[in-house]
Amino acid sequence: MTDHGQDAIGQAWRGVVATARRTAAEGLVVGTSGNVSARVGPVVLVTPSGVPYDRLGPGDAVGVDLDGRQVLGRLAPTSELPLHLAVYRDTPAAAVVHTHAVHATAVSTLVTEVPPVHYAAALLGGSVRTAAYARYGTPELAEHMREALRDRTGCLLRNHGTVTYGDTLDQAYERTAQLEWLCRLWLAASSVPGREPSLLTPDQMRDVQDALEGYGQPG
Ligand code: 13P
Ligand code: ZN
Repeated sequence: MTDHGQDAIGQAWRGVVATARRTAAEGLVVGTSGNVSARVGPVVLVTPSGVPYDRLGPGDAVGVDLDGRQVLGRLAPTSELPLHLAVYRDTPAAAVVHTHAVHATAVSTLVTEVPPVHYAAALLGGSVRTAAYARYGTPELAEHMREALRDRTGCLLRNHGTVTYGDTLDQAYERTAQLEWLCRLWLAASSVPGREPSLLTPDQMRDVQDALEGYGQPG
């Protein structure tokens, strides 16, 4: 590989480790739960399976190709490789974040779609679906996730957690944080006895999606 390619891989690996540490530091996972990946051309860098994120250093990079063949590193890749690779095959994603965020996981046991109580759902492309249950690490789970991710940049995994993707690690992470916040909001609103939260209509959600195109600073 060229020096330029090595630099890009080294930089992306630092980003993967920093993002994985952030999921633990911000309470979205406990211990070695969850996993993070980033794509650099034909190489997908992934967190290794079952290794605490604070122990990962520059020499621990794990890389696979889009068929899952290991092309970099000696540690075994995350058990959720089928899930990460399915996202890269289906979408232009550059990064994928999987967590067991507690409010989102609680909501995954209750609904097939997160009730649209807030426009934050538009940051993930609209109402967020729950993928049907399959055991962690299986191709079946990856298949269920693909269905739930249609036209969305994130979904819940029933009785398991969250998956989001983005153009950057920061964007994938931000979408996970927004999804967790949305689920927490719905749990709070729906726990008031005798009351039902009001929901955004599909028209209102589309209106937000249009408005968000111009959100933030010009350019
Ligand atoms: P890994 O440690 O293999 O990445 O597994 C964690 C996890 O969240 C499985 O769903
Ligand atoms: Zn998991």
